[in-house]
Amino acid sequence: MTTVAAYAAPAPKAPLERTTIERRAVGEFDVLIDIEFAGICHSDIHQAQDGWRPGIFPMVPGHEIAGVVSEVGSGVTRFAVGDRVGVGCMVDSCRECDNCRAGLEQYCTKGGPTWTYNDTGKDGEPTYGGYAQKIVVDENFVVRVPEGLSLDVAAPLLCAGITTYSPLRHWNAGPGKKVAVVGLGGLGHMGVKIAHAMGAEVTVLSQSLRKKDDGLRLGADHYYATGDPDTFEELAGTFDIILNTVSAPLDFAAYLSLLRTDGTMVNVGLPEEPVQIVLQSLFGNRRSISSSGIGGIAETQEMLDFCAQHGLGAEIELISAAEINEAYERVQASDVRYRFVIDTATI
Ligand code: NAP
Ligand code: ZN
Ligand code: ZN
Repeated sequence: MTTVAAYAAPAPKAPLERTTIERRAVGEFDVLIDIEFAGICHSDIHQAQDGWRPGIFPMVPGHEIAGVVSEVGSGVTRFAVGDRVGVGCMVDSCRECDNCRAGLEQYCTKGGPTWTYNDTGKDGEPTYGGYAQKIVVDENFVVRVPEGLSLDVAAPLLCAGITTYSPLRHWNAGPGKKVAVVGLGGLGHMGVKIAHAMGAEVTVLSQSLRKKDDGLRLGADHYYATGDPDTFEELAGTFDIILNTVSAPLDFAAYLSLLRTDGTMVNVGLPEEPVQIVLQSLFGNRRSISSSGIGGIAETQEMLDFCAQHGLGAEIELISAAEINEAYERVQASDVRYRFVIDTATI
């Protein structure tokens, strides 16, 4: 066991504070990672505030982890000391069910994967995430950060990158396809970059035009304010794919009306409240509404390679650990450009 400095929420809705946690001894197939950077995902905030379900406290959030391997177990074959690596939302799964075998560990049918934090590992101990100086992870749940991507801008790709890449691939974003990204936050800004790099025509649907210049710079072809009712009239029946990254419930009938025939609205944002959908919004044009969770481990590596090849890192604001609580407030106020990343040396 190693004692490691970390930032934790001691109780639901309580401010995060410095503490120490124990990491397990490095096992045969484990790698020890010296964490350098950890992104702040809105999911960290939902969970630290008990917004989705009762959480496990104290909670060390963080599932956008980038660092360097500092020790490997005797059976590790894929990584060596000094490798630049990342860890995302999962640290284990059953590895035997159909989905795990198909590289869809995030949809493990044996009760889901083991989440990086706010979960219980196979050893019966709580899992603690990336707001910490070190983590021990089985090598099968570690990915390689390609040369050409620096670790600070790579960290957010481990959740925001894969969560947008996976559905864009699944629903075939590419040349000739019109993709709308709703919400220009952490996920949204990566959705814009990735959809653009895939060759799609990209439209941002943001609450206002405040971030229009950024959106166009990130790769959007068009940018509209959803606060303006004319937007919904002008764009009716336009999109093949709407990627909704908003953390709060929306007027789904209004957004579904923007899909063309056979279009899909895929919701990766996970509001805390139930949402209401009127089926008449779907039937007239055989529209679909769906959701998607992160991506599998192999697909996460594919996404990192794709981002490196296209020069896509996250746009980040690097903060010290002492600024985490303020960053949470700013994310909740949609005041983030476009991902807060913690320099874990400051913990
Ligand atoms: P974020 O950085 O806060 O971005 C969300 C964006 O949504 C905001 O920047 C804002 O963009 C827009 N927004 C916020 N409140 C809104 C409201 N009331 N009405 C309309 N638009 C609003 O959050 P994130 O880290 O990208 O995460 C977004 C959501 O995805 C969260 O619910 C998170 O838990 C979820 N998530 C899901 C997965 C998955 O696997 N499915 C993975 C990661 C995260 P504008 O200012 O441009 O309007
Ligand atoms: Zn996340
Ligand atoms: Zn499984």
